Amino acid sequence: MDTEVLIVGAGPVGLIFSIDLGKRGIPCTLIEKNDAPLGYPKMERCNPRTMEIFRRLGLADTVRAAGYPSDWPMDTYLVFDLMRPPLFKMAHPTVAQAKAKRDATTDGSLPLEPYQIISQYTLEPLLKSVAERIPAVTVKFGHELLSFEQDSAGVTARVRKTDGTIISIRTRYMVGCDGGSSVVRKQLGFKMDGEPHLLEMRQALFHCPELYDRARAPRARHYHRIDDHWTLMIVQDSRQHFTLHAVVDKDEDMAALFEKIVGTPVKFEMLHCAKWVQRLLLAEHYRQDRVFIAGDAAHLVIPTGGLGMNTGVGDAIDLSWKLAATLRGWGGPELLPSYEAERRPVGAINVKASGGGTTGRMKWRAAYRPSIDEDTPEGRAALDNLLSIARDEAPKSFRVIGAELGYRYAGSPVICDEPGGPAPNIEEYQPTSWPGARLPHVWLAPGKVSVHDRIGDGFTLLRLGRTRADAAALAKAFAEIGAPFSVLDIDSDAARRVYGFDYLLVRPDLHVVWRGDALPDRPDDVARIVTGH
Ligand SMILES: Cc1cc2nc3c(=O)[nH]c(=O)nc-3n(C[C@H](O)[C@H](O)[C@H](O)COP(=O)(O)OP(=O)(O)OC[C@H]3O[C@@H](n4cnc5c(N)ncnc54)[C@H](O)[C@@H]3O)c2cc1C
Repeated sequence: MDTEVLIVGAGPVGLIFSIDLGKRGIPCTLIEKNDAPLGYPKMERCNPRTMEIFRRLGLADTVRAAGYPSDWPMDTYLVFDLMRPPLFKMAHPTVAQAKAKRDATTDGSLPLEPYQIISQYTLEPLLKSVAERIPAVTVKFGHELLSFEQDSAGVTARVRKTDGTIISIRTRYMVGCDGGSSVVRKQLGFKMDGEPHLLEMRQALFHCPELYDRARAPRARHYHRIDDHWTLMIVQDSRQHFTLHAVVDKDEDMAALFEKIVGTPVKFEMLHCAKWVQRLLLAEHYRQDRVFIAGDAAHLVIPTGGLGMNTGVGDAIDLSWKLAATLRGWGGPELLPSYEAERRPVGAINVKASGGGTTGRMKWRAAYRPSIDEDTPEGRAALDNLLSIARDEAPKSFRVIGAELGYRYAGSPVICDEPGGPAPNIEEYQPTSWPGARLPHVWLAPGKVSVHDRIGDGFTLLRLGRTRADAAALAKAFAEIGAPFSVLDIDSDAARRVYGFDYLLVRPDLHVVWRGDALPDRPDDVARIVTGH
Protein backbone atom coordinates (compact mmCIF):
# COMPACT_ATOMS: atom_id res chain seq x y z
CA MET A 1 0.00 0.00 0.00
CA ASP A 2 1.19 3.53 -0.79
CA THR A 3 -1.25 4.92 1.76
CA GLU A 4 -4.04 3.76 4.05
CA VAL A 5 -6.65 6.25 2.82
CA LEU A 6 -6.59 8.20 -0.43
CA ILE A 7 -8.68 11.38 -0.25
CA VAL A 8 -9.58 12.82 -3.63
CA GLY A 9 -10.16 16.59 -3.74
CA ALA A 10 -8.76 19.31 -1.49
CA GLY A 11 -11.89 21.41 -1.15
CA PRO A 12 -12.94 22.15 2.43
CA VAL A 13 -14.37 18.66 2.95
CA GLY A 14 -11.27 16.76 1.74
CA LEU A 15 -9.02 19.08 3.74
CA ILE A 16 -10.98 18.68 6.99
CA PHE A 17 -11.19 14.93 6.40
CA SER A 18 -7.43 14.65 6.01
CA ILE A 19 -6.82 16.80 9.11
CA ASP A 20 -9.10 14.69 11.31
CA LEU A 21 -7.77 11.39 9.97
CA GLY A 22 -4.17 12.57 10.18
CA LYS A 23 -4.64 13.73 13.77
CA ARG A 24 -5.88 10.22 14.54
CA GLY A 25 -2.50 9.00 13.27
CA ILE A 26 -3.77 7.29 10.11
CA PRO A 27 -1.38 7.69 7.16
CA CYS A 28 -3.38 9.28 4.37
CA THR A 29 -2.79 11.04 1.07
CA LEU A 30 -4.82 13.98 -0.17
CA ILE A 31 -4.71 14.62 -3.91
CA GLU A 32 -6.04 17.70 -5.70
CA LYS A 33 -6.14 18.22 -9.44
CA ASN A 34 -5.46 21.97 -9.29
CA ASP A 35 -1.97 23.28 -8.60
CA ALA A 36 -3.18 25.66 -5.87
CA PRO A 37 -6.30 26.21 -3.72
CA LEU A 38 -9.38 27.88 -5.10
CA GLY A 39 -8.88 31.55 -5.96
CA TYR A 40 -12.53 32.55 -6.22
CA PRO A 41 -15.38 32.72 -3.72
CA LYS A 42 -17.95 30.08 -2.91
CA MET A 43 -18.98 29.50 0.70
CA GLU A 44 -18.34 31.98 3.48
CA ARG A 45 -20.42 30.77 6.43
CA CYS A 46 -19.08 28.06 8.73
CA ASN A 47 -22.09 27.04 10.77
CA PRO A 48 -21.96 26.46 14.55
CA ARG A 49 -21.48 22.69 14.20
CA THR A 50 -18.54 23.16 11.82
CA MET A 51 -17.05 25.64 14.28
CA GLU A 52 -17.50 23.09 17.11
CA ILE A 53 -15.61 20.61 14.94
CA PHE A 54 -12.88 23.19 14.32
CA ARG A 55 -12.67 23.68 18.10
CA ARG A 56 -12.14 19.93 18.59
CA LEU A 57 -9.42 20.06 15.94
CA GLY A 58 -7.82 23.01 17.78
CA LEU A 59 -8.58 25.34 14.86
CA ALA A 60 -11.54 27.49 15.91
CA ASP A 61 -9.48 30.50 16.98
CA THR A 62 -7.25 30.27 13.89
CA VAL A 63 -10.28 30.21 11.60
CA ARG A 64 -11.87 33.15 13.44
CA ALA A 65 -8.66 35.18 13.27
CA ALA A 66 -8.60 34.76 9.48
CA GLY A 67 -12.31 35.57 9.00
CA TYR A 68 -14.72 38.42 9.78
CA PRO A 69 -13.98 40.29 13.02
CA SER A 70 -16.27 39.21 15.83
CA ASP A 71 -17.98 42.61 16.04
CA TRP A 72 -18.78 42.99 12.32
CA PRO A 73 -22.57 43.19 11.82
CA MET A 74 -24.16 40.00 10.50
CA ASP A 75 -27.42 41.69 9.44
CA THR A 76 -29.12 41.30 6.08
CA TYR A 77 -30.92 44.15 4.30
CA LEU A 78 -33.28 44.64 1.40
CA VAL A 79 -32.23 47.76 -0.50
CA PHE A 80 -32.59 49.63 -3.74
CA ASP A 81 -28.97 50.70 -3.39
CA LEU A 82 -26.41 51.42 -0.69
CA MET A 83 -26.98 55.20 -0.79
CA ARG A 84 -30.63 55.04 0.21
CA PRO A 85 -32.03 53.91 3.56
CA PRO A 86 -32.52 50.13 3.73
CA LEU A 87 -36.10 48.94 3.23
CA PHE A 88 -36.07 45.90 5.47
CA LYS A 89 -33.61 44.56 8.03
CA MET A 90 -33.09 41.01 9.21
CA ALA A 91 -31.07 41.34 12.39
CA HIS A 92 -28.57 38.68 13.38
CA PRO A 93 -26.23 38.75 16.36
CA THR A 94 -22.56 39.36 15.75
CA VAL A 95 -20.18 36.60 16.76
CA ALA A 96 -19.28 38.63 19.87
CA GLN A 97 -22.97 38.98 20.81
CA ALA A 98 -23.61 35.29 20.13
CA LYS A 99 -20.64 34.36 22.33
CA ALA A 100 -21.87 36.56 25.18
CA LYS A 101 -25.30 34.90 25.04
CA ARG A 102 -23.71 31.45 24.85
CA ASP A 103 -21.52 32.19 27.88
CA ALA A 104 -24.61 33.00 29.96
CA THR A 105 -26.64 29.96 28.79
CA THR A 106 -26.71 26.68 30.68
CA ASP A 107 -29.70 24.85 29.20
CA GLY A 108 -27.86 23.19 26.32
CA SER A 109 -29.83 25.13 23.73
CA LEU A 110 -26.89 26.98 22.18
CA PRO A 111 -23.88 25.66 20.30
CA LEU A 112 -20.45 25.74 21.92
CA GLU A 113 -19.20 27.84 19.01
CA PRO A 114 -21.27 30.40 17.07
CA TYR A 115 -20.97 30.67 13.30
CA GLN A 116 -18.05 32.34 11.56
CA ILE A 117 -17.76 34.12 8.24
CA ILE A 118 -14.62 33.19 6.35
CA SER A 119 -14.38 33.15 2.56
CA GLN A 120 -13.69 29.76 1.03
CA TYR A 121 -10.64 31.24 -0.73
CA THR A 122 -9.25 32.15 2.72
CA LEU A 123 -10.28 28.92 4.44
CA GLU A 124 -8.82 26.48 1.90
CA PRO A 125 -5.19 27.73 2.00
CA LEU A 126 -5.44 27.90 5.80
CA LEU A 127 -6.61 24.29 6.05
CA LYS A 128 -4.02 23.19 3.47
CA SER A 129 -1.22 24.63 5.61
CA VAL A 130 -2.64 22.80 8.66
CA ALA A 131 -2.88 19.48 6.78
CA GLU A 132 0.68 19.86 5.48
CA ARG A 133 2.00 20.14 9.03
CA ILE A 134 0.44 16.84 10.18
CA PRO A 135 3.06 14.08 9.82
CA ALA A 136 0.51 11.40 8.83
CA VAL A 137 -0.91 13.49 5.96
CA THR A 138 0.70 13.74 2.50
CA VAL A 139 -0.77 16.58 0.46
CA LYS A 140 -0.29 16.45 -3.30
CA PHE A 141 -1.68 19.26 -5.44
CA GLY A 142 -1.45 18.95 -9.24
CA HIS A 143 -2.63 15.30 -9.02
CA GLU A 144 -5.87 14.43 -10.79
CA LEU A 145 -7.72 11.16 -10.27
CA LEU A 146 -8.54 9.68 -13.66
CA SER A 147 -10.00 6.31 -12.70
CA PHE A 148 -9.71 3.53 -10.15
CA GLU A 149 -10.18 -0.18 -9.62
CA GLN A 150 -11.00 -1.89 -6.37
CA ASP A 151 -10.44 -5.46 -5.24
CA SER A 152 -10.86 -7.29 -1.96
CA ALA A 153 -7.69 -5.80 -0.43
CA GLY A 154 -7.64 -2.24 -1.68
CA VAL A 155 -8.07 0.34 -4.42
CA THR A 156 -5.66 1.28 -7.21
CA ALA A 157 -6.05 4.86 -8.42
CA ARG A 158 -4.78 6.15 -11.76
CA VAL A 159 -3.60 9.69 -11.27
CA ARG A 160 -2.32 12.29 -13.75
CA LYS A 161 0.18 14.86 -12.55
CA THR A 162 0.19 18.40 -13.92
CA ASP A 163 3.22 17.57 -16.09
CA GLY A 164 1.20 14.80 -17.75
CA THR A 165 2.89 11.86 -16.02
CA ILE A 166 0.48 9.07 -15.07
CA ILE A 167 1.10 7.33 -11.74
CA SER A 168 -0.82 4.77 -9.75
CA ILE A 169 -1.55 5.01 -6.02
CA ARG A 170 -2.48 1.88 -4.09
CA THR A 171 -4.63 2.46 -1.00
CA ARG A 172 -6.79 0.46 1.38
CA TYR A 173 -9.71 2.92 1.20
CA MET A 174 -10.56 5.86 -1.00
CA VAL A 175 -12.87 8.80 -0.28
CA GLY A 176 -14.12 11.01 -3.11
CA CYS A 177 -14.38 14.59 -1.82
CA ASP A 178 -14.14 15.71 -5.41
CA GLY A 179 -17.13 18.03 -5.59
CA GLY A 180 -20.32 18.17 -7.64
CA SER A 181 -18.83 16.63 -10.82
CA SER A 182 -17.20 13.85 -8.78
CA VAL A 183 -15.22 11.39 -10.91
CA VAL A 184 -15.44 8.94 -8.02
CA ARG A 185 -19.25 9.08 -7.87
CA LYS A 186 -19.56 8.79 -11.64
CA GLN A 187 -17.27 5.78 -11.83
CA LEU A 188 -19.24 4.12 -9.03
CA GLY A 189 -22.32 4.71 -11.18
CA PHE A 190 -24.32 6.40 -8.41
CA LYS A 191 -27.21 8.47 -9.79
CA MET A 192 -28.09 11.89 -8.36
CA ASP A 193 -31.78 12.26 -7.52
CA GLY A 194 -33.53 15.63 -7.41
CA GLU A 195 -33.49 18.90 -9.31
CA PRO A 196 -30.41 19.21 -11.56
CA HIS A 197 -31.08 22.70 -12.95
CA LEU A 198 -33.25 25.14 -11.01
CA LEU A 199 -31.73 28.49 -11.91
CA GLU A 200 -28.57 29.65 -13.65
CA MET A 201 -26.87 32.60 -11.98
CA ARG A 202 -23.64 34.51 -12.31
CA GLN A 203 -21.29 35.23 -9.47
CA ALA A 204 -18.73 38.03 -9.68
CA LEU A 205 -16.06 39.03 -7.19
CA PHE A 206 -15.32 42.74 -6.78
CA HIS A 207 -12.49 44.46 -4.97
CA CYS A 208 -13.68 47.84 -3.74
CA PRO A 209 -11.74 49.08 -0.68
CA GLU A 210 -13.56 52.44 -0.65
CA LEU A 211 -17.10 51.05 -0.64
CA TYR A 212 -17.77 51.65 3.05
CA ASP A 213 -16.18 55.12 2.88
CA ARG A 214 -18.57 56.15 0.14
CA ALA A 215 -21.78 54.19 0.66
CA ARG A 216 -24.26 55.17 3.37
CA ALA A 217 -25.75 51.74 4.04
CA PRO A 218 -25.13 50.23 7.45
CA ARG A 219 -22.42 47.61 7.60
CA ALA A 220 -23.86 44.17 7.05
CA ARG A 221 -23.29 40.71 5.68
CA HIS A 222 -25.83 40.61 2.83
CA TYR A 223 -27.68 43.19 0.74
CA HIS A 224 -30.54 41.95 -1.43
CA ARG A 225 -31.29 44.44 -4.20
CA ILE A 226 -34.95 44.77 -5.06
CA ASP A 227 -34.87 44.13 -8.80
CA ASP A 228 -35.75 41.45 -11.34
CA HIS A 229 -32.20 40.01 -11.45
CA TRP A 230 -32.22 38.38 -8.00
CA THR A 231 -29.22 40.55 -7.14
CA LEU A 232 -27.53 39.67 -3.85
CA MET A 233 -24.34 41.28 -2.58
CA ILE A 234 -22.34 39.28 -0.04
CA VAL A 235 -19.61 40.97 1.98
CA GLN A 236 -16.50 38.76 1.99
CA ASP A 237 -14.16 38.34 4.96
CA SER A 238 -11.79 41.23 4.09
CA ARG A 239 -14.82 43.62 3.95
CA GLN A 240 -13.10 45.08 0.86
CA HIS A 241 -14.19 42.23 -1.40
CA PHE A 242 -17.83 41.72 -2.37
CA THR A 243 -19.53 39.02 -4.37
CA LEU A 244 -22.57 39.73 -6.44
CA HIS A 245 -24.99 36.98 -7.48
CA ALA A 246 -27.51 37.77 -10.18
CA VAL A 247 -29.45 36.41 -13.11
CA VAL A 248 -28.00 38.27 -16.12
CA ASP A 249 -27.03 37.46 -19.72
CA LYS A 250 -23.39 38.53 -19.83
CA ASP A 251 -20.39 38.97 -17.53
CA GLU A 252 -20.32 42.73 -18.26
CA ASP A 253 -23.83 43.06 -16.84
CA MET A 254 -22.40 42.13 -13.44
CA ALA A 255 -20.19 45.22 -13.32
CA ALA A 256 -23.18 47.40 -14.26
CA LEU A 257 -25.24 45.81 -11.49
CA PHE A 258 -22.44 46.39 -8.98
CA GLU A 259 -22.50 50.10 -9.86
CA LYS A 260 -26.29 50.11 -9.47
CA ILE A 261 -26.34 48.49 -6.05
CA VAL A 262 -23.56 50.72 -4.73
CA GLY A 263 -25.52 53.73 -6.03
CA THR A 264 -22.60 56.16 -6.14
CA PRO A 265 -19.41 56.19 -8.24
CA VAL A 266 -16.63 54.11 -6.65
CA LYS A 267 -13.35 52.69 -7.88
CA PHE A 268 -13.59 48.93 -8.16
CA GLU A 269 -12.13 45.96 -9.97
CA MET A 270 -14.02 42.85 -11.07
CA LEU A 271 -11.63 40.02 -10.22
CA HIS A 272 -13.68 37.03 -11.29
CA CYS A 273 -16.97 36.18 -12.94
CA ALA A 274 -18.53 32.79 -13.63
CA LYS A 275 -21.86 31.05 -14.04
CA TRP A 276 -23.21 28.67 -11.46
CA VAL A 277 -26.39 26.62 -11.32
CA GLN A 278 -28.74 26.11 -8.41
CA ARG A 279 -29.29 22.37 -7.90
CA LEU A 280 -30.90 20.17 -5.27
CA LEU A 281 -29.43 16.69 -5.63
CA LEU A 282 -28.64 13.67 -3.48
CA ALA A 283 -26.57 10.64 -4.49
CA GLU A 284 -28.40 7.31 -4.32
CA HIS A 285 -25.47 5.78 -2.36
CA TYR A 286 -22.49 7.05 -0.40
CA ARG A 287 -20.32 3.90 -0.51
CA GLN A 288 -19.40 0.89 -2.52
CA ASP A 289 -17.07 -1.54 -0.71
CA ARG A 290 -13.79 0.37 -0.13
CA VAL A 291 -14.78 3.59 -1.86
CA PHE A 292 -16.84 6.42 -0.31
CA ILE A 293 -18.09 9.82 -1.38
CA ALA A 294 -18.53 12.87 0.87
CA GLY A 295 -19.43 16.55 0.58
CA ASP A 296 -20.66 18.00 -2.72
CA ALA A 297 -19.81 14.68 -4.39
CA ALA A 298 -22.75 13.23 -2.42
CA HIS A 299 -25.19 16.16 -2.13
CA LEU A 300 -25.71 19.49 -3.84
CA VAL A 301 -27.80 22.22 -2.25
CA ILE A 302 -28.63 25.82 -2.97
CA PRO A 303 -26.25 27.97 -0.88
CA THR A 304 -29.22 29.59 0.93
CA GLY A 305 -28.95 28.49 4.56
CA GLY A 306 -25.29 27.49 4.21
CA LEU A 307 -25.91 23.75 4.20
CA GLY A 308 -23.38 22.88 1.48
CA MET A 309 -19.89 22.66 2.89
CA ASN A 310 -21.26 22.40 6.41
CA THR A 311 -23.13 19.17 5.56
CA GLY A 312 -19.95 17.87 3.96
CA VAL A 313 -17.95 18.59 7.11
CA GLY A 314 -20.48 16.44 8.99
CA ASP A 315 -19.87 13.61 6.49
CA ALA A 316 -16.11 13.89 6.96
CA ILE A 317 -16.31 13.77 10.76
CA ASP A 318 -18.67 10.77 10.70
CA LEU A 319 -16.50 8.73 8.32
CA SER A 320 -13.06 9.68 9.59
CA TRP A 321 -13.18 7.97 13.01
CA LYS A 322 -14.92 4.92 11.49
CA LEU A 323 -12.12 4.47 8.94
CA ALA A 324 -9.52 5.00 11.66
CA ALA A 325 -11.26 2.39 13.86
CA THR A 326 -11.43 -0.10 11.00
CA LEU A 327 -7.77 0.41 10.08
CA ARG A 328 -6.74 0.10 13.75
CA GLY A 329 -8.56 -3.23 13.84
CA TRP A 330 -11.28 -2.52 16.41
CA GLY A 331 -14.00 -1.28 14.05
CA GLY A 332 -16.46 -4.10 13.30
CA PRO A 333 -18.07 -4.96 9.96
CA GLU A 334 -21.12 -2.74 10.58
CA LEU A 335 -19.09 0.40 11.17
CA LEU A 336 -18.24 1.45 7.61
CA PRO A 337 -21.72 0.65 6.21
CA SER A 338 -23.19 2.84 8.97
CA TYR A 339 -21.66 5.90 7.25
CA GLU A 340 -24.30 5.81 4.51
CA ALA A 341 -27.05 4.80 6.97
CA GLU A 342 -26.27 7.85 9.13
CA ARG A 343 -25.23 10.53 6.68
CA ARG A 344 -27.49 10.00 3.66
CA PRO A 345 -30.69 10.76 5.63
CA VAL A 346 -29.01 13.95 6.91
CA GLY A 347 -28.10 14.82 3.31
CA ALA A 348 -31.75 14.31 2.30
CA ILE A 349 -33.02 16.57 5.12
CA ASN A 350 -30.51 19.30 4.30
CA VAL A 351 -31.22 19.22 0.56
CA LYS A 352 -34.91 19.69 1.45
CA ALA A 353 -34.11 22.45 3.97
CA SER A 354 -32.11 24.44 1.46
CA GLY A 355 -34.92 24.10 -1.08
CA GLY A 356 -37.41 25.37 1.53
CA GLY A 357 -35.24 28.39 2.36
CA THR A 358 -35.12 29.34 -1.30
CA THR A 359 -38.88 29.07 -1.73
CA GLY A 360 -39.35 31.96 0.70
CA ARG A 361 -36.96 34.11 -1.32
CA MET A 362 -38.78 33.20 -4.54
CA LYS A 363 -42.06 34.40 -3.04
CA TRP A 364 -40.93 37.92 -2.25
CA ARG A 365 -38.85 38.14 -5.44
CA ALA A 366 -41.98 37.24 -7.45
CA ALA A 367 -43.70 40.38 -6.08
CA TYR A 368 -41.25 42.65 -7.94
CA ARG A 369 -42.89 45.09 -10.37
CA PRO A 370 -41.02 47.42 -12.77
CA SER A 371 -42.73 50.43 -11.15
CA ILE A 372 -41.54 49.48 -7.65
CA ASP A 373 -38.86 52.17 -7.43
CA GLU A 374 -41.19 54.97 -8.60
CA ASP A 375 -42.76 57.55 -6.30
CA THR A 376 -46.24 56.87 -7.66
CA PRO A 377 -49.30 55.24 -6.04
CA GLU A 378 -48.66 52.14 -8.15
CA GLY A 379 -44.94 52.03 -7.22
CA ARG A 380 -45.60 52.55 -3.51
CA ALA A 381 -48.28 49.83 -3.48
CA ALA A 382 -45.92 47.40 -5.24
CA LEU A 383 -43.19 48.12 -2.70
CA ASP A 384 -45.56 47.71 0.26
CA ASN A 385 -46.74 44.42 -1.12
CA LEU A 386 -43.20 43.09 -1.69
CA LEU A 387 -42.05 44.16 1.77
CA SER A 388 -45.05 42.61 3.49
CA ILE A 389 -44.24 39.27 1.81
CA ALA A 390 -40.51 39.66 2.56
CA ARG A 391 -41.20 40.27 6.27
CA ASP A 392 -42.71 36.77 6.53
CA GLU A 393 -40.70 34.89 3.95
CA ALA A 394 -37.17 36.33 3.89
CA PRO A 395 -36.16 35.30 7.44
CA LYS A 396 -37.10 31.67 6.71
CA SER A 397 -33.85 30.97 4.88
CA PHE A 398 -31.93 31.67 8.10
CA ARG A 399 -34.00 29.34 10.28
CA VAL A 400 -31.88 26.20 9.99
CA ILE A 401 -30.47 25.79 13.51
CA GLY A 402 -32.37 22.48 13.89
CA ALA A 403 -30.70 21.12 10.75
CA GLU A 404 -27.33 22.41 11.95
CA LEU A 405 -27.34 21.05 15.51
CA GLY A 406 -30.34 18.76 15.87
CA TYR A 407 -29.57 16.06 13.30
CA ARG A 408 -29.79 12.59 14.83
CA TYR A 409 -28.68 9.23 13.52
CA ALA A 410 -32.03 7.56 14.13
CA GLY A 411 -32.09 3.85 13.40
CA SER A 412 -28.34 3.63 12.85
CA PRO A 413 -26.98 0.09 13.22
CA VAL A 414 -24.19 1.36 15.50
CA ILE A 415 -26.39 3.31 17.95
CA CYS A 416 -28.36 1.76 20.83
CA ASP A 417 -31.45 3.66 19.73
CA GLU A 418 -34.64 3.82 21.77
CA PRO A 419 -38.15 3.51 20.31
CA GLY A 420 -39.69 6.84 19.30
CA GLY A 421 -37.45 9.82 19.48
CA PRO A 422 -37.80 13.42 18.35
CA ALA A 423 -38.65 13.95 14.69
CA PRO A 424 -36.25 16.04 12.58
CA ASN A 425 -36.93 19.76 12.95
CA ILE A 426 -35.08 22.04 10.56
CA GLU A 427 -35.98 25.38 12.14
CA GLU A 428 -35.74 24.77 15.88
CA TYR A 429 -33.11 23.10 18.03
CA GLN A 430 -34.22 21.23 21.15
CA PRO A 431 -31.28 19.87 23.14
CA THR A 432 -31.58 16.11 23.65
CA SER A 433 -29.40 13.20 24.69
CA TRP A 434 -31.53 10.77 22.70
CA PRO A 435 -29.18 8.13 21.26
CA GLY A 436 -27.92 9.25 17.86
CA ALA A 437 -28.05 12.98 18.73
CA ARG A 438 -25.09 15.33 19.03
CA LEU A 439 -24.23 15.76 22.71
CA PRO A 440 -25.60 19.19 23.71
CA HIS A 441 -22.98 21.67 24.89
CA VAL A 442 -23.07 22.47 28.62
CA TRP A 443 -20.50 24.62 30.40
CA LEU A 444 -18.40 23.20 33.22
CA ALA A 445 -16.63 26.53 33.67
CA PRO A 446 -18.86 29.22 32.07
CA GLY A 447 -17.28 30.74 28.99
CA LYS A 448 -14.23 28.51 29.28
CA VAL A 449 -14.66 24.74 29.53
CA SER A 450 -17.51 22.77 28.02
CA VAL A 451 -18.34 19.09 28.54
CA HIS A 452 -17.28 18.77 24.87
CA ASP A 453 -13.77 19.94 25.75
CA ARG A 454 -13.32 17.14 28.27
CA ILE A 455 -14.25 14.34 25.86
CA GLY A 456 -11.35 12.60 24.16
CA ASP A 457 -10.96 10.77 20.85
CA GLY A 458 -12.41 7.40 21.90
CA PHE A 459 -15.67 6.29 23.55
CA THR A 460 -16.45 8.15 26.78
CA LEU A 461 -18.82 7.13 29.55
CA LEU A 462 -20.14 10.25 31.29
CA ARG A 463 -21.14 9.64 34.92
CA LEU A 464 -23.44 12.50 35.89
CA GLY A 465 -25.47 11.30 38.86
CA ARG A 466 -24.77 11.13 42.58
CA THR A 467 -24.05 7.36 42.50
CA ARG A 468 -21.16 6.41 40.31
CA ALA A 469 -21.33 2.72 39.58
CA ASP A 470 -18.15 0.85 38.79
CA ALA A 471 -17.72 0.86 35.00
CA ALA A 472 -15.18 -1.99 34.99
CA ALA A 473 -17.47 -4.38 33.06
CA LEU A 474 -18.03 -1.82 30.31
CA ALA A 475 -14.33 -0.98 30.24
CA LYS A 476 -13.53 -4.69 29.92
CA ALA A 477 -16.05 -5.08 27.08
CA PHE A 478 -14.37 -2.26 25.11
CA ALA A 479 -10.90 -3.57 25.98
CA GLU A 480 -11.76 -6.99 24.58
CA ILE A 481 -12.64 -5.33 21.28
CA GLY A 482 -9.53 -3.13 21.51
CA ALA A 483 -11.55 0.09 21.33
CA PRO A 484 -10.45 3.18 23.29
CA PHE A 485 -12.75 3.83 26.26
CA SER A 486 -12.60 6.18 29.22
CA VAL A 487 -14.83 7.31 32.07
CA LEU A 488 -15.51 10.97 32.74
CA ASP A 489 -17.19 12.08 35.97
CA ILE A 490 -19.15 15.30 35.56
CA ASP A 491 -20.07 17.29 38.66
CA SER A 492 -22.61 19.62 37.16
CA ASP A 493 -26.30 19.84 38.00
CA ALA A 494 -26.83 21.75 34.74
CA ALA A 495 -25.31 18.90 32.70
CA ARG A 496 -27.36 16.26 34.57
CA ARG A 497 -30.50 18.35 33.98
CA VAL A 498 -29.84 18.87 30.26
CA TYR A 499 -28.81 15.28 29.58
CA GLY A 500 -31.59 13.82 31.74
CA PHE A 501 -29.79 10.58 32.66
CA ASP A 502 -27.09 9.44 35.10
CA TYR A 503 -25.00 7.72 32.43
CA LEU A 504 -24.30 8.59 28.81
CA LEU A 505 -22.00 6.84 26.38
CA VAL A 506 -20.57 9.18 23.73
CA ARG A 507 -18.54 8.19 20.66
CA PRO A 508 -15.55 9.96 19.09
CA ASP A 509 -17.64 12.38 16.99
CA LEU A 510 -19.63 13.48 20.09
CA HIS A 511 -22.83 11.63 19.21
CA VAL A 512 -24.60 9.83 22.05
CA VAL A 513 -24.71 6.04 21.47
CA TRP A 514 -26.37 4.86 24.70
CA ARG A 515 -27.90 6.35 27.87
CA GLY A 516 -29.46 5.11 31.09
CA ASP A 517 -29.91 5.64 34.83
CA ALA A 518 -27.94 2.48 35.56
CA LEU A 519 -25.03 0.96 33.68
CA PRO A 520 -26.08 -1.50 30.96
CA ASP A 521 -26.99 -5.04 32.07
CA ARG A 522 -25.21 -6.42 29.03
CA PRO A 523 -22.11 -4.26 28.56
CA ASP A 524 -20.69 -6.63 25.93
CA ASP A 525 -23.73 -6.07 23.71
CA VAL A 526 -23.46 -2.29 23.99
CA ALA A 527 -19.73 -2.29 23.23
CA ARG A 528 -20.23 -4.61 20.28
CA ILE A 529 -23.09 -2.61 18.75
CA VAL A 530 -21.43 0.80 18.99
CA THR A 531 -18.12 -0.44 17.54
CA GLY A 532 -19.91 -2.11 14.65
CA HIS A 533 -19.53 -5.76 15.67
C1 LIG B 1 -22.04 30.93 -4.36
C2 LIG B 1 -21.91 29.87 -3.35
C3 LIG B 1 -22.01 30.17 -2.00
C4 LIG B 1 -21.91 29.16 -1.05
N1 LIG B 1 -22.02 29.46 0.29
C5 LIG B 1 -21.93 28.46 1.22
C6 LIG B 1 -21.96 28.74 2.62
O1 LIG B 1 -22.03 29.89 3.03
N2 LIG B 1 -21.85 27.68 3.49
C7 LIG B 1 -21.72 26.39 3.04
O2 LIG B 1 -21.67 25.46 3.85
N3 LIG B 1 -21.66 26.11 1.72
C8 LIG B 1 -21.75 27.11 0.81
N4 LIG B 1 -21.65 26.83 -0.53
C9 LIG B 1 -21.40 25.45 -0.95
C10 LIG B 1 -19.93 25.11 -0.76
O3 LIG B 1 -19.12 25.98 -1.48
C11 LIG B 1 -19.71 23.68 -1.20
O4 LIG B 1 -20.67 22.86 -0.58
C12 LIG B 1 -18.32 23.21 -0.81
O5 LIG B 1 -17.34 23.84 -1.60
C13 LIG B 1 -18.22 21.71 -0.99
O6 LIG B 1 -16.95 21.31 -0.57
P1 LIG B 1 -16.32 19.98 -1.15
O7 LIG B 1 -14.95 19.92 -0.55
O8 LIG B 1 -17.25 18.86 -0.98
O9 LIG B 1 -16.23 20.20 -2.74
P2 LIG B 1 -15.46 21.31 -3.57
O10 LIG B 1 -15.33 22.57 -2.81
O11 LIG B 1 -16.14 21.35 -4.89
O12 LIG B 1 -14.01 20.71 -3.72
C14 LIG B 1 -13.76 19.60 -4.55
C15 LIG B 1 -12.28 19.59 -4.88
O13 LIG B 1 -11.99 18.40 -5.62
C16 LIG B 1 -11.12 18.72 -6.67
N5 LIG B 1 -11.27 17.67 -7.69
C17 LIG B 1 -12.33 17.47 -8.50
N6 LIG B 1 -12.12 16.40 -9.29
C18 LIG B 1 -10.90 15.92 -8.96
C19 LIG B 1 -10.12 14.83 -9.44
N7 LIG B 1 -10.57 14.04 -10.42
N8 LIG B 1 -8.90 14.62 -8.90
C20 LIG B 1 -8.43 15.43 -7.91
N9 LIG B 1 -9.12 16.50 -7.44
C21 LIG B 1 -10.35 16.73 -7.95
C22 LIG B 1 -11.59 20.10 -7.12
O14 LIG B 1 -10.59 20.77 -7.88
C23 LIG B 1 -11.88 20.76 -5.77
O15 LIG B 1 -10.77 21.40 -5.23
C24 LIG B 1 -21.72 27.83 -1.49
C25 LIG B 1 -21.61 27.54 -2.85
C26 LIG B 1 -21.70 28.54 -3.78
C27 LIG B 1 -21.58 28.20 -5.25
